[in-house]
Amino acid sequence: MKNRITLLLIVVLSVLAGCSGGDQASQGETATAAPAKVYKWRMVTTWPKNLPAMGVAPVRMAEMIDKMSNGRLKITVYGAGEVVPAMGVFDAVSLGNVEMGHGAAYYWKGKVPVAQFFTAVPFGLTAQEMNGWLLHGGGMALWEELYARYDLVPMPGGNTGVQMAGWFNKEINSLADIQGLKMRIPGLGGEVFEKAGGTAVNLPGGEIFTSLQTGNIDATEWVGPYNDLAFGLYQVAKYYYYPGWQEPGPTLEIIVNKEAFETLPADLQEIVRVAARAMNDDMLAEFTARNNAALTELVEKHHVELRRLPDDVLNRLQQISAEVVADIPGDDELAQRIYKSYMDYRKGVLSYHEISERAYINARAAALEQ
Ligand code: CA
Repeated sequence: MKNRITLLLIVVLSVLAGCSGGDQASQGETATAAPAKVYKWRMVTTWPKNLPAMGVAPVRMAEMIDKMSNGRLKITVYGAGEVVPAMGVFDAVSLGNVEMGHGAAYYWKGKVPVAQFFTAVPFGLTAQEMNGWLLHGGGMALWEELYARYDLVPMPGGNTGVQMAGWFNKEINSLADIQGLKMRIPGLGGEVFEKAGGTAVNLPGGEIFTSLQTGNIDATEWVGPYNDLAFGLYQVAKYYYYPGWQEPGPTLEIIVNKEAFETLPADLQEIVRVAARAMNDDMLAEFTARNNAALTELVEKHHVELRRLPDDVLNRLQQISAEVVADIPGDDELAQRIYKSYMDYRKGVLSYHEISERAYINARAAALEQ
């Protein structure tokens, strides 16, 4: 009996070994006989097509996914207005009219106020700190839970780093200079600006230049030197203010329709996630590398006047910001958890960054001054 079982085992193993060898030999033939399924997706974005960094990043992501998937997932990227308007991206992906989108969560504040925590909080987290919260501090799980309500899978999709406070045609010397000022400033920054006496407008990037040129708005923020130079904002405003209190490290987002994502095989899902993660890192690196040269060009070639917001203005905006941010969660239990997670993380990371990032930057600056 024992011998028969051993014999049977040898036969089975030989057959398996034979099959395996046969598989290897005919792999090319098998691939030809049953080609892998090709998924064709559309990605809509809130940016003008080919805008430096933000507009180019989704195109690079699509190319990366094409290569990593060996052509099994093909994504065509559309600029704002090509398939849906910039502000229609969330709904288009949520409803499944398109599979994927690239934008920023704070654009949807009218529908999902607490989504703003996943882009930027005035006087909140920097890019490095946002990545820490989202990827290793519990933020991602909350973002996924929130967006599941809208049949969306969110992923961090880039970061600009600390932005500029914006473009003005008059100097801002005190809070009085903000009164009645109509400024393009989205998200929580806009709400703070309103409480400080201004009027906030939420316009997509592609409409900023004309709105400022025609006097529809008095001032605007956009991103920072690299992007602002590309939009030519120096042609329609004289003063360029810093620091970007309203967006200290905004995370952009990739959104994928949940059903479309779930129909992908596991390896393609992972490819999409890894490509989004690569894009998230790459964009911050690109802004960091390019901003200074763009600022030099703005100041030296286009004679833009660089100004720092006065301390009393920044201090007041910071006070208002704390009130505005605390009001966001309201009665929604999930929104309350998001607020608490963000604020707890913020407290811890700020404390550590006092003796690491800030201590180092101060020490470096002091040494350079000598
Ligand atoms: Ca901005």
